[in-house]
Parts: sequence; C-alpha cells; structure tokens
Amino acid sequence: MSNGVKNGDMEAFSGKDVSKKREDYLNWPDYFMAVAFLSAMRSKDPCSQVGACIVNAQNKVVGIGYNGMPFGCSDDDFPWGKESDSKVENKYFYVCHAEMNAILNKIVGELRGCHIYVAMFPCNECAKLIIQSGISEVYYFSNKNWNKDECIATRKMFDAAGIKYTQYIPTRRQIVIDFDTIDWNKVSQAQDPPTPKKKRTSS
Ligand SMILES: [Zn+2]
Repeated sequence: MSNGVKNGDMEAFSGKDVSKKREDYLNWPDYFMAVAFLSAMRSKDPCSQVGACIVNAQNKVVGIGYNGMPFGCSDDDFPWGKESDSKVENKYFYVCHAEMNAILNKIVGELRGCHIYVAMFPCNECAKLIIQSGISEVYYFSNKNWNKDECIATRKMFDAAGIKYTQYIPTRRQIVIDFDTIDWNKVSQAQDPPTPKKKRTSS
C-alpha cells in the first residue's frame, strides 16, 4: 500500500485476526433457508411470499423458486386477490407455488435424494411434485397451515412415500445483507470499484 501500512496491519488494527478462519460464517441450513427467504422477496403476492431452495448431496443449490404467475400470464392482468365469489377471479387457479417453481427450475437432470428448504409446510399439490421428483427430505420454516386439510394430506403422502420432513428454524433470527460491508478501499485485489452495471428494466 502506498502509505506503507500493510493490509494485515490494518486488519489487526480493526480487531480482526486475518490469520484464522472466520467463526461467524453462515452454516449450510441457515444459508439454504435464507436463499429460500431471499427468493420469496421476488414474489408479487400481496399476502404470502414463499420461497424454496433445493440442494443436492454436495450442498449445491440446484433449484430455486418463489410463488408467482406462470410464464406468459402477466402479473398485472391475472388476479392476486382471494375474496371474489368467482373462483376464476381469485389467484388460486393460477399461482405456481414456490416448490413447483423450484422443481421446474432445476439445473440438473435428476432431483433424486435432494433436500428442499421451504418457508411453509408444503400443500398437497406441491407434496405430490416433491414425491414424484425424488426429493427425499423437506425442511420447512412455518407450520401455520399444519391443520389445514391440504397439509394433513401432505403428511399422509409424505409418510407413505418415506419423505422426511423437519421444521427448521435458522440459528440466527436475522441475516442482514448490507451492500456496504465490502470496503473497496481495503480490498487489495481491486484497484478501483467495479463500474455499476446498467440497470435492468424488466420486472
Ligand atoms: Zn403448494
């Protein structure tokens, strides 16, 4: 560095020991549940935003999804409400659930033996997809629909098919993503901050 202070000295000065492994890194299950919750933030559903993250035996993320309208069915034209007397005017006939999208978005040929992390205990329709796709374990965050008929049916199917399901509450209550945490002046590999990419215009 130009002022003669070595990067290591600066880090030591800031109270970090840069010769040792960080201890406060995210563990795998927290990371996967956080990926599910982050993808849920893409959802346009005004009531429930649900995300799902599928991982394989090597802890690689192989599918991500959130609840949304099918391709070609505009978020602006199709209904997001659920109170209409006409079922055709409510969202339920149209919205693809997070688990369905995560399964269909898979980047590998086979999901056999994979695990899925999902914000809510899966409904019966998603349960069928999970079983048929070969996913073997489900980690869900919320069980608020536990006693609904759909979820009772899910448990009957999971039990029969040998799918393991476990509630998983991350070890930390909050994971904050702060884009300012990287101080580019201290990153020795980068001489200049990266040029911001042109803003994408699609929704
Ligand atoms: Zn579902």
